[in-house]
Amino acid sequence: MTLWEARSLPDCLFCKIVEGTIPARKVFEDESVVAFHDIQPQAPVHLLVIPKKHIATMNDCEADDSALLGHTLLVAQRIAKEAGLAESGYRLVNNCGSDAGQVVFHLHWHILGGEKLAALNP
Ligand code: 5GP
Repeated sequence: MTLWEARSLPDCLFCKIVEGTIPARKVFEDESVVAFHDIQPQAPVHLLVIPKKHIATMNDCEADDSALLGHTLLVAQRIAKEAGLAESGYRLVNNCGSDAGQVVFHLHWHILGGEKLAALNP
Protein backbone atom coordinates (compact mmCIF):
# COMPACT_ATOMS: atom_id res chain seq x y z
CA MET A 1 0.00 0.00 0.00
CA THR A 2 1.36 3.41 -0.98
CA LEU A 3 1.48 6.39 1.36
CA TRP A 4 -1.45 8.09 -0.37
CA GLU A 5 -3.57 4.92 -0.24
CA ALA A 6 -2.86 4.58 3.47
CA ARG A 7 -3.98 8.17 4.05
CA SER A 8 -6.92 8.35 1.69
CA LEU A 9 -10.19 9.37 3.34
CA PRO A 10 -13.29 7.30 2.53
CA ASP A 11 -15.60 10.33 2.29
CA CYS A 12 -13.27 12.59 0.31
CA LEU A 13 -14.40 13.28 -3.26
CA PHE A 14 -10.90 13.88 -4.60
CA CYS A 15 -9.53 10.74 -2.87
CA LYS A 16 -12.22 8.86 -4.80
CA ILE A 17 -11.07 10.49 -8.05
CA VAL A 18 -7.49 9.46 -7.19
CA GLU A 19 -8.68 5.89 -6.57
CA GLY A 20 -10.81 5.91 -9.74
CA THR A 21 -14.08 5.16 -7.96
CA ILE A 22 -15.44 8.53 -9.16
CA PRO A 23 -14.68 9.25 -12.82
CA ALA A 24 -12.80 12.35 -13.93
CA ARG A 25 -11.27 13.56 -17.18
CA LYS A 26 -7.67 13.09 -16.13
CA VAL A 27 -4.96 14.88 -18.08
CA PHE A 28 -1.97 13.80 -15.96
CA GLU A 29 -1.12 11.17 -13.38
CA ASP A 30 2.10 9.99 -11.77
CA GLU A 31 2.90 8.33 -8.45
CA SER A 32 2.01 11.35 -6.33
CA VAL A 33 -0.08 13.83 -8.35
CA VAL A 34 -3.25 13.79 -10.48
CA ALA A 35 -4.71 16.52 -12.69
CA PHE A 36 -8.15 16.56 -14.26
CA HIS A 37 -10.78 18.85 -15.76
CA ASP A 38 -13.01 20.73 -13.33
CA ILE A 39 -16.61 19.53 -13.58
CA GLN A 40 -17.95 23.12 -13.64
CA PRO A 41 -15.38 25.09 -15.62
CA GLN A 42 -15.10 28.80 -14.81
CA ALA A 43 -12.88 29.53 -17.82
CA PRO A 44 -12.24 27.91 -21.24
CA VAL A 45 -9.43 25.94 -19.57
CA HIS A 46 -10.13 24.94 -15.97
CA LEU A 47 -8.02 22.11 -14.59
CA LEU A 48 -7.43 20.91 -11.05
CA VAL A 49 -4.06 19.64 -9.82
CA ILE A 50 -3.98 17.64 -6.61
CA PRO A 51 -1.52 15.61 -4.58
CA LYS A 52 -2.73 12.02 -4.21
CA LYS A 53 -1.99 12.19 -0.50
CA HIS A 54 -4.98 13.50 1.42
CA ILE A 55 -4.11 16.91 2.82
CA ALA A 56 -7.23 18.92 3.63
CA THR A 57 -5.98 22.49 3.09
CA MET A 58 -2.82 24.58 2.72
CA ASN A 59 -3.04 25.07 6.48
CA ASP A 60 -2.49 21.36 6.98
CA CYS A 61 0.75 21.12 5.02
CA GLU A 62 3.86 20.22 7.00
CA ALA A 63 7.59 20.46 6.42
CA ASP A 64 7.60 16.83 5.22
CA ASP A 65 5.27 17.85 2.39
CA SER A 66 7.67 20.35 0.84
CA ALA A 67 8.87 18.04 -1.96
CA LEU A 68 5.31 16.99 -2.73
CA LEU A 69 4.14 20.62 -2.86
CA GLY A 70 7.01 21.61 -5.13
CA HIS A 71 6.33 18.68 -7.42
CA THR A 72 2.60 19.48 -7.55
CA LEU A 73 3.33 23.06 -8.63
CA LEU A 74 5.78 21.92 -11.30
CA VAL A 75 3.13 19.51 -12.60
CA ALA A 76 0.73 22.48 -12.72
CA GLN A 77 3.29 24.41 -14.79
CA ARG A 78 3.75 21.45 -17.17
CA ILE A 79 0.00 20.95 -17.62
CA ALA A 80 -0.57 24.66 -18.24
CA LYS A 81 2.11 24.53 -20.92
CA GLU A 82 0.54 21.42 -22.47
CA ALA A 83 -2.83 23.18 -22.48
CA GLY A 84 -1.27 25.99 -24.52
CA LEU A 85 -1.43 28.58 -21.75
CA ALA A 86 2.27 29.35 -21.28
CA GLU A 87 2.40 32.34 -23.62
CA SER A 88 -1.01 33.88 -22.94
CA GLY A 89 -0.79 33.28 -19.20
CA TYR A 90 -2.97 31.61 -16.64
CA ARG A 91 -4.07 31.84 -13.04
CA LEU A 92 -3.05 29.26 -10.43
CA VAL A 93 -5.43 29.42 -7.47
CA ASN A 94 -5.60 27.67 -4.13
CA ASN A 95 -8.65 28.35 -1.99
CA CYS A 96 -7.80 27.75 1.66
CA GLY A 97 -10.76 27.42 3.99
CA SER A 98 -14.33 28.61 3.98
CA ASP A 99 -13.78 32.38 3.59
CA ALA A 100 -11.82 31.64 0.41
CA GLY A 101 -14.66 29.48 -0.88
CA GLN A 102 -12.98 26.09 -0.53
CA VAL A 103 -15.66 23.43 -0.93
CA VAL A 104 -13.57 20.30 -1.47
CA PHE A 105 -11.29 19.74 1.50
CA HIS A 106 -8.51 17.94 -0.35
CA LEU A 107 -5.66 20.26 -1.29
CA HIS A 108 -5.85 21.40 -4.92
CA TRP A 109 -4.86 24.16 -7.29
CA HIS A 110 -7.09 25.49 -10.02
CA ILE A 111 -5.43 26.26 -13.38
CA LEU A 112 -7.59 28.85 -15.13
CA GLY A 113 -6.95 30.29 -18.56
CA GLY A 114 -7.83 30.39 -22.21
CA GLU A 115 -9.28 33.91 -22.03
CA LYS A 116 -8.50 37.28 -20.44
CA LEU A 117 -9.40 36.71 -16.79
CA ALA A 118 -11.03 39.37 -14.64
CA ALA A 119 -8.46 41.31 -12.64
CA LEU A 120 -8.32 40.54 -8.92
CA ASN A 121 -7.84 44.27 -8.22
CA PRO A 122 -10.01 46.07 -10.81
P1 5GP B 1 -12.75 24.75 -4.30
O1 5GP B 1 -13.90 25.72 -4.25
O2 5GP B 1 -12.80 23.73 -3.19
O3 5GP B 1 -11.43 25.46 -4.41
O4 5GP B 1 -12.93 24.01 -5.68
C1 5GP B 1 -13.45 22.74 -5.83
C2 5GP B 1 -13.64 22.51 -7.30
O5 5GP B 1 -13.95 21.15 -7.51
C3 5GP B 1 -14.80 23.32 -7.92
O6 5GP B 1 -14.30 24.16 -8.95
C4 5GP B 1 -15.76 22.25 -8.44
O7 5GP B 1 -16.38 22.60 -9.66
C5 5GP B 1 -14.85 21.04 -8.57
N1 5GP B 1 -15.57 19.78 -8.41
C6 5GP B 1 -16.49 19.48 -7.47
N2 5GP B 1 -16.93 18.23 -7.62
C7 5GP B 1 -16.25 17.71 -8.68
C8 5GP B 1 -16.26 16.43 -9.31
O8 5GP B 1 -16.97 15.50 -8.94
N3 5GP B 1 -15.43 16.27 -10.37
C9 5GP B 1 -14.62 17.27 -10.83
N4 5GP B 1 -13.86 17.00 -11.87
N5 5GP B 1 -14.58 18.49 -10.24
C10 5GP B 1 -15.39 18.70 -9.18
